[in-house]
Amino acid sequence: MIVVMGKDSSPEQLAEVERRIESHPGLKPQVFHGVERIVVGVLGTITPDLKDEMELLPGVLEVVLISKPYKLASREFHPDSSSVTVGDAVIGGPDPVIMAGPCSVEDEDQMVSTAKAVKAAGATVLRGGAFKPRTSPYSFRGMGIEGLELLDMAKQETGLPIITEVMSPRDVDIVAQYADILQIGARNMQNYNLLDEVGETNKPVMVKRGLAASYEEWLLAAEYVMAGGNENVILCERGIRGFEQFTRFTLDVAAIPVIKRLSHLPIVADPSHSTGRWYLVTPVALAAIAAGAHGLLIEVHPNPDVAKCDGPQSLTFENFNRLMDQARAISEVREQPVEVP
Ligand code: PEP
Ligand code: MN
Repeated sequence: MIVVMGKDSSPEQLAEVERRIESHPGLKPQVFHGVERIVVGVLGTITPDLKDEMELLPGVLEVVLISKPYKLASREFHPDSSSVTVGDAVIGGPDPVIMAGPCSVEDEDQMVSTAKAVKAAGATVLRGGAFKPRTSPYSFRGMGIEGLELLDMAKQETGLPIITEVMSPRDVDIVAQYADILQIGARNMQNYNLLDEVGETNKPVMVKRGLAASYEEWLLAAEYVMAGGNENVILCERGIRGFEQFTRFTLDVAAIPVIKRLSHLPIVADPSHSTGRWYLVTPVALAAIAAGAHGLLIEVHPNPDVAKCDGPQSLTFENFNRLMDQARAISEVREQPVEVP
């Protein structure tokens, strides 16, 4: 339920609304000061009488029941779009933020050279996996803490903030010491213990869509993080499983405007994991930007042929440069921001 108040309602009126909500055991108010109005979200189990009670209070314009199971992540609860700022990147602002780097951290030269190349091309966040979720236990599973140290080296060299995946609740503390954004991978989107744990950190969290997750399941995963008190959440559409084997997954382009309608959270797209082939990355990236994505996550490697992970979908520096030129052109012509009614 949300209680909508005029933006000129008095602090006393707002305090009374909050007091009344808190007087019901198990209910908690959450106040958002929007441009047009003040919205007080009510978290907890709502009784039918509460709506009537709230409607009578001075300063209250209307009381709306929220039908969605996710609250904090919903646009009903939080009408203004939110954004997440790390370094020079504002994810959720008018310009798409490009996060780029190798699938996995391999060595210092690979990391530092890639960081310099993607920065020169215009990326403002560096990616790289130190803890890798691999389908086979025999594949390269990442360098772990040593990988985090190499990411930090690349950050010191370039100033780029780091996004990196955390796979296990027990690694959250150590990964959060190095990461500027914690990535929850597609396979862990419904690892509720992990979501709880990252919800307790003060680091932004990017929640990738599960391989077969509905929008509701995905937004409920974001809700877990937010319910822990961490509101800096970014969503990432990374492709869902379809019947087609040619592409690795299928990027659901419609997810971008749908999420913007259902949620206030920023939404970025990952054309690398969704296509699985380097020559499909740029066209699909451009489609995502045209559809209004707030950013892209792109895999780039100095020498994709020898990459320890996801070489076939990784862009060379040269191809990444080309992607950036085209992405800039599309984002300049698209309406800013892409509005969703
Ligand atoms: C990744 O971004 O490194 C990754 C493993 O992606 P996903 O979780 O989307 O498969
Ligand atoms: Mn990868």
